[in-house]
Amino acid sequence: MAKRGDLVVVSGFSGVGKGTVIKELMKSHPEYVFSVSGTTRYQRDGEVNGKDYFFMSREAFEEKVSAGGFLEYAEYSGNYYGTPSDYVFSQMDQGKNVILDIEYQGAFQVKERYPEAILFFLIPPSAEELYNRLLNRKTETMAQIIKRMETAVKETDHVHQYDTIWVNDKLEDTVNDFLAMHGNPELRIRRYEENMIKIPQIKKELLEILDKIKE
Ligand code: 5GP
Repeated sequence: MAKRGDLVVVSGFSGVGKGTVIKELMKSHPEYVFSVSGTTRYQRDGEVNGKDYFFMSREAFEEKVSAGGFLEYAEYSGNYYGTPSDYVFSQMDQGKNVILDIEYQGAFQVKERYPEAILFFLIPPSAEELYNRLLNRKTETMAQIIKRMETAVKETDHVHQYDTIWVNDKLEDTVNDFLAMHGNPELRIRRYEENMIKIPQIKKELLEILDKIKE
């Protein structure tokens, strides 16, 4: 029987580029598979149902919650998001490493239910860069960007609970660093220490940008 795969959680502020990093990683590494979440959020331009998310009504989502169909779920910026459990465990049993792109409340539920899960938090090189990425992707209104930046401020208070923290700078380096960290617990701790000290500064800058754009 194949060795059981790992459960890998990737969290990070909205707009930090988790999706791009995960897609790039999976292009050349078939041992990783992505868990497609259910969500009640509207479908953005270019998103494919069943590939990016399973888009669901609130009623359908709540029914699946009652039926115990989610490994974890959370409400984020006014919408539900959840990880369907059946896919995750069947893939791990086949030896695949399953990647979850989820926010912190879900990440900690996963860690509680499955302590072997490895929790990664991806940060931008700076708060300014995050703001620019949110602006440039042109998928949110300014009110939605403000909401996501405010959520990012709240998230900075939970980053210390992750197993490791890594920076999204150059795509290729970010992917390589992930691969190195996945196989190396000491490197995960080193990155945690290097990057945890950047969090207070990022929080301060996020608040300054928010002050400016809300004027
Ligand atoms: P977005 O709306 O930008 O696609 O995602 C918003 C947030 O929801 C991101 O932080 C993303 O990681 C998180 N998210 C996506 N799917 C899930 C899920 O299944 N469970 C939880 N808890 N969070 C999720």
